Amino acid sequence: MSIPFAAAGGQVNVYLIDNADGSLTMFDTGLGNPAGWDALTAGFLAAGRRLQDVRRIIVSHGHMDHFGAARALHERTGAPVLVHPRDAAKVLDRPEDPQRRQAIGRYFLRLGAPLPAILQMGARYGKQERATARLDEVEALDPGLELEFGAFRATVVHTPGHTPGHVVLHADSARILLSADHLLGRISPCPLIEVGPRDEDKSFRALVAYFESLETIEAMELDWVLPGHGEPFTGHRKAIAGLRAFYEKRQARLLSLLQDGPRTPYEIAGAVFGKTRDDELYLTLSEIVGNLEVLEDSGRVERLREADVDRYRSTTP
Ligand SMILES: [Zn+2]
Ligand SMILES: [Zn+2]
Repeated sequence: MSIPFAAAGGQVNVYLIDNADGSLTMFDTGLGNPAGWDALTAGFLAAGRRLQDVRRIIVSHGHMDHFGAARALHERTGAPVLVHPRDAAKVLDRPEDPQRRQAIGRYFLRLGAPLPAILQMGARYGKQERATARLDEVEALDPGLELEFGAFRATVVHTPGHTPGHVVLHADSARILLSADHLLGRISPCPLIEVGPRDEDKSFRALVAYFESLETIEAMELDWVLPGHGEPFTGHRKAIAGLRAFYEKRQARLLSLLQDGPRTPYEIAGAVFGKTRDDELYLTLSEIVGNLEVLEDSGRVERLREADVDRYRSTTP
């Protein structure tokens, strides 16, 4: 189904998997907007299945294009919605929560972003966030859980990075991975900044976690990757090698920018993406902060916590 976010990597995919008893498991739901419902209805029709056949709804992670229709689907089918505990708040919490908005604002000010750009970002995401229905309850989707389907078994694998509670489904014997947003065919799935309403996810370093999770995926023997966006693809190790090369290049660029002295993440984003990308502040700063945290993790930069902002300094001459 098409979604109104160009940066997400194209249309979002919803997967229906046959259970052994003839019912269905749904992996992700789409956005739940009118266009999404049209696509969902058409998809069920094309598959010759009914919405009422859905017995279980698995949400790969707490982004609205993946869980947006979950509430309405739950109400229509009674099927439980399963989410990893670390992403549960994203599908349960009300987005208009002022505490959460303020926490995000404070964090972006620390990154050096100007207030008008932060307010513009809030307005940009606010409308869609308010239009996305949250759930009243979810069931915990625990890593290692074995799911029995009609044609294969699959294991729930926790792959933190893109979000803290991101999961993939690995069908070992079928050599298939439902990778959601962890591994996409054509684009790098930008691990996003996490700011909880009570600043609780501050310690989560998205890109550091993402690379650790990639090692788990790399070790798998796979014929097909079925991603959250775009077409199924083969060659997961080649895709992973491409991602590593992409990020190494970006990190080299950041290191060279820091040779001129300490800079805020916002200043670095301006140098890399240009000031005109203020309209994508959340994505561009996520990308910069993620890479700075990888460099910090390996001792190549250090963060200077000043009174109002954080600056990063290169530790290598
Ligand atoms: Zn996502
Ligand atoms: Zn997505």
